Amino acid sequence: MFLVIFLFAYAIFSLINGESKPSQYGLVFLAVLEGLVDDTEAGGIQPPDAIPSTKAMLLQITVAMKAMPWYSALPTLSEYMVESGWTKCFSRIRDVGWPAYLTFLLVYIVLVEFGIYWMHRELHDIKPLYKHLHATHHIYNKQNTLSPFAGLAFHPLDGILQAVPHVIALFLVPTHFTTHIALLFLEAIWTANIHDCIHGKMWPVMGAGYHTIHHTTYRHNYGHYTIWMDWMFGTLRDPVLEDTPKKVT
Ligand SMILES: [Zn+2]
Ligand SMILES: [Zn+2]
Repeated sequence: MFLVIFLFAYAIFSLINGESKPSQYGLVFLAVLEGLVDDTEAGGIQPPDAIPSTKAMLLQITVAMKAMPWYSALPTLSEYMVESGWTKCFSRIRDVGWPAYLTFLLVYIVLVEFGIYWMHRELHDIKPLYKHLHATHHIYNKQNTLSPFAGLAFHPLDGILQAVPHVIALFLVPTHFTTHIALLFLEAIWTANIHDCIHGKMWPVMGAGYHTIHHTTYRHNYGHYTIWMDWMFGTLRDPVLEDTPKKVT
């Protein structure tokens, strides 16, 4: 766990210093490691059919590595827009003060929650988008094929589209730029975490238990960090309720 914290700190430090490449690699390693740590801490011994095969994980790593350079296109574009002064970004927290910073951050996160929910949902509802983009991620649809490596295994355009709400938010909410970049990094950690199939049971967090259901039903739990968007728009399915009939059969 200390190594995870160290790597995360390193990634943020590199980012602040403008060393985007090393920090990206550090983050990928961190995301993978985080998934492994999570497995051992929370999961204990798993039944054999719950462990993803090496073949499935290698496929996920390959898809993720191919997409990775394309993912970086979005922050490159957003940084250009920020530096051109087109967004509402500010560079120092003291420019606005802590109360305003925290308020803006909350609004930013709510907007991102809303945006990612609907982007993800439309990637399912608009059939050509599903077929040509999002289906790449949904080939891992059973517990024994899902692993933290699936967290970044998307069609490049799919991955970019799901991160677009972060950039849209920059035009709507005054945002501290370094916080914005840190939140983008957090996405990589989060996406590794929600693909490890271990239900953390921490309300209202939409963890791996919920996302595993998303991979098996396709019609539920499109949300991001919390269950609230799915709850509001009628697509929430709770893993605890899901487990009950399974035990009977
Ligand atoms: Zn999906
Ligand atoms: Zn997924």
